[in-house]
Amino acid sequence: MRLILLGPPGAGKGTQAQRLVKKYGIVQLSTGDMLRAAVGAGTPIGQRAKDIMARGDLCPDELVVAIVAERIDQPDAEKGFILDGFPRTVPQAEALDRMLEAKGMKLDGVIGLKVDADILQSRIANRVAECKARGEALRPDDNPDVLRTRIEAYRAQTAPLVDYYRGQGVLKLVNGMAPISEVAAAIDRLLEVAPAKKAARKKDTVKTAAVKTGAVKRAAVKPAAKEAASRKKPAPTRSARVSAVARPGRKAAARGKTTLRKSKSRRG
Ligand code: AMP
Repeated sequence: MRLILLGPPGAGKGTQAQRLVKKYGIVQLSTGDMLRAAVGAGTPIGQRAKDIMARGDLCPDELVVAIVAERIDQPDAEKGFILDGFPRTVPQAEALDRMLEAKGMKLDGVIGLKVDADILQSRIANRVAECKARGEALRPDDNPDVLRTRIEAYRAQTAPLVDYYRGQGVLKLVNGMAPISEVAAAIDRLLEVAPAKKAARKKDTVKTAAVKTGAVKRAAVKPAAKEAASRKKPAPTRSARVSAVARPGRKAAARGKTTLRKSKSRRG
């Protein structure tokens, strides 16, 4: 699963990304987090990004594209990822397209969270209050003045990506002003329409294969064993029986084995 979460600052991208990470076992690639880590570590990238981020402006495309390209190449991103805060400009989106194409990868969807500007202001104010209450350090860009710049950067440079991805037919818009659980449910429904539905169909096939395996084990395997015995050949081993039942597909055979092993262990 490869996803992009698109939305203005304070739209809840991070919250939804963390949930999707757990649900799909994919990694969250947040350029904001990567840049903050670089700033904290005082790397050359961090030194370039520090003041820009503190002002609420966007970092240069080439800098951000470079860190994403490197991160996407890590083994943990192979199974899938959710991009949070990237791309933020059309050139970044084009660079991402090229990156994915070079790897023979495709996006499964771009989830756009729609939130009004005044709600964003109050959400950031709440986030600041919560951080203060917990005694946590505040992000230098979580204050009303910088937030205005960040929202303006979103409007001018990032919002055009809605049309960019609509044009690619991968955009899925969600009302980001609903309660977190409703936003989550809406995202799940949208994702189920595409890849998850395929997975569900696959699951049904596995179930059918498992049921067949069980049924044949009771009905067909015994005659098969009898037949083997009547030919005065030794009865097939357990694993040979499972493979025979699960034929013609080798994958189905593997699934049959798994099902048997699982039910065996459940029996203790
Ligand atoms: P975020 O945590 O996603 O809100 O990002 C915090 C800040 O990091 C932004 O205000 C930008 O200064 C910088 N940043 C994060 N991602 C990007 C990006 N894709 N392009 C440019 N700047 C970015």
